[in-house]
Amino acid sequence: MSRILVTRSSMPTIEEYENEIKSLWDTHWLTNMGAKHKQFQAELEAMLGVPHVALYCNGHLALENIIEAMDLPEGGEVITTPFTFASTTHAVVRSGLRPVFCDIDQDNYTIDVNKIEALITDKTVAILPVHVYGNICDVEAIKSIADKHGLKVIYDAAHAFAVKYKGQSAGAFGDASMFSFHATKVFNTIEGGAVCFHDDALVQKLNDLKNFGIHGPEEVAYIGGNAKMNEFCAAMGICNLRHLDEEIAKRKDVVERYRSHFEGVPGIKLAPVQKDVEPNYAYFPVVFDKAVFGAGRDEVFNALAKNSIGARKYFYPLTNTFSCYKDVINADSTPAALDISLRVLTLPLYADLSADDVDRICETVLSCKL
Ligand SMILES: *Cc1c(COP(=O)(O)O)cnc(C)c1O
Repeated sequence: MSRILVTRSSMPTIEEYENEIKSLWDTHWLTNMGAKHKQFQAELEAMLGVPHVALYCNGHLALENIIEAMDLPEGGEVITTPFTFASTTHAVVRSGLRPVFCDIDQDNYTIDVNKIEALITDKTVAILPVHVYGNICDVEAIKSIADKHGLKVIYDAAHAFAVKYKGQSAGAFGDASMFSFHATKVFNTIEGGAVCFHDDALVQKLNDLKNFGIHGPEEVAYIGGNAKMNEFCAAMGICNLRHLDEEIAKRKDVVERYRSHFEGVPGIKLAPVQKDVEPNYAYFPVVFDKAVFGAGRDEVFNALAKNSIGARKYFYPLTNTFSCYKDVINADSTPAALDISLRVLTLPLYADLSADDVDRICETVLSCKL
């Protein structure tokens, strides 16, 4: 029985990539905002319909840089969620800020907007919500809370590339949004990331932060780091962008096949279809109710593993239970997030996952039923 991995990176043909990188052998210009970087950035700005896109070597440093660029006061509190990848919480803490954990919505796993205001104190400086699995947060409610209290909003949109809400790209909301182009995401540049933002003043700041604060050959005006995207990654982005629609259409077929197997099965909860959202089919999370389904998440995970099928307990454990935060973090209770983290499994999903493989995965899951 062949092994099914939880994900598989999309790649152009080797000929297409080779063709894209050929000019690098003429110029020998491999990084530092070269021709590929410029072209890829312009293509993203056009596609996302946001005034500014800054490219990064990965999504995490993009997030750290945009937080730093906001000049938030040291020790300020950032309202965020623990149902996310380590990166979100780490970026807040590594920026000298304090994460304050808000619970998540039971249905779409994004921040529960009804619980944000109770967490706001005179130290609160920002809200950092996550478009988990590509599900769009309640951006309107978040905007009105942020406006009322004078808070910045930075979205972790790592999962939401190419998702649209009411016709606008996920990158259009808040003060800024971070996308990840990691190999495991819907769209990849091998490693990479980007920040989308509206404020012209952030262009120079982000340049400073990602390129040592260098303003000219003899002028270094800012104590910045290094987080630039190189030309090979930009070229990968240019190639993969050409096939994005096709990739998402194939993912949609996979998701629909999953749904046809699971829809209506008692004890299995599927991801919601969000109103006004054009999805990217980034993940296929399934939440198990053991008392009804007859098997819990861990039993299903083990059954899949026994059948050489990879799945991920994504997101488990919650970031506010990580051992590295044992003594640091307010242990605010996030019961909904905890409950989902113990019951959720994301099943294999990538463009070229075959219908037969989806059937085999579903049969294995359903064989766990009582
Ligand atoms: C992937 C991911 C990141 C980090 O992106 P990298 O490009 O891997 O650095 C941040 N947040 C979330 C929710 C992610 O899934």
